[in-house]
Amino acid sequence: MNEPILLKILKHIPKAVHKAAMITFMGDLMANLKPFCGGTQTSAAFFGWIRSALRRLSVRWKPKNEYLLTVRRPYTGAGKRSKWEYQCQICFKWHIRAHIEVDHKERCGKLKDFNDLGDFCKKLFCEKEGFQALCKECHIKKTNEEKHRG
Ligand SMILES: [Zn+2]
Repeated sequence: MNEPILLKILKHIPKAVHKAAMITFMGDLMANLKPFCGGTQTSAAFFGWIRSALRRLSVRWKPKNEYLLTVRRPYTGAGKRSKWEYQCQICFKWHIRAHIEVDHKERCGKLKDFNDLGDFCKKLFCEKEGFQALCKECHIKKTNEEKHRG
């Protein structure tokens, strides 16, 4: 039988030392697993929280809303359901605002640690030229293609 090396070593260590080492090890492990917010937040939870807060903030980013004005025209559909309609930059069809999403031409990328923060913000809060209006259908297609490319 091939005994794992760690078990072989543990057999030669007194139980009390073993226990103390385990407690230290578990303490370190917990600190690594939840390094944020007084040991209550994992790194993924923390950066997910920052990410969603920044995304929420970007709804009010001026260049994004100014960009939208450049791809709209008065609504031409039947009835008066909407005042404006917007052109998708992939299929070039016109859609009401609710069916349009403002996409970043360049993906904002990952936000996994503090090193990603600068680049993420730069891309999220880009200038007018960095945005494109996409209908929901084209946006999903584009996102899926990007995922497959990795
Ligand atoms: Zn489209």
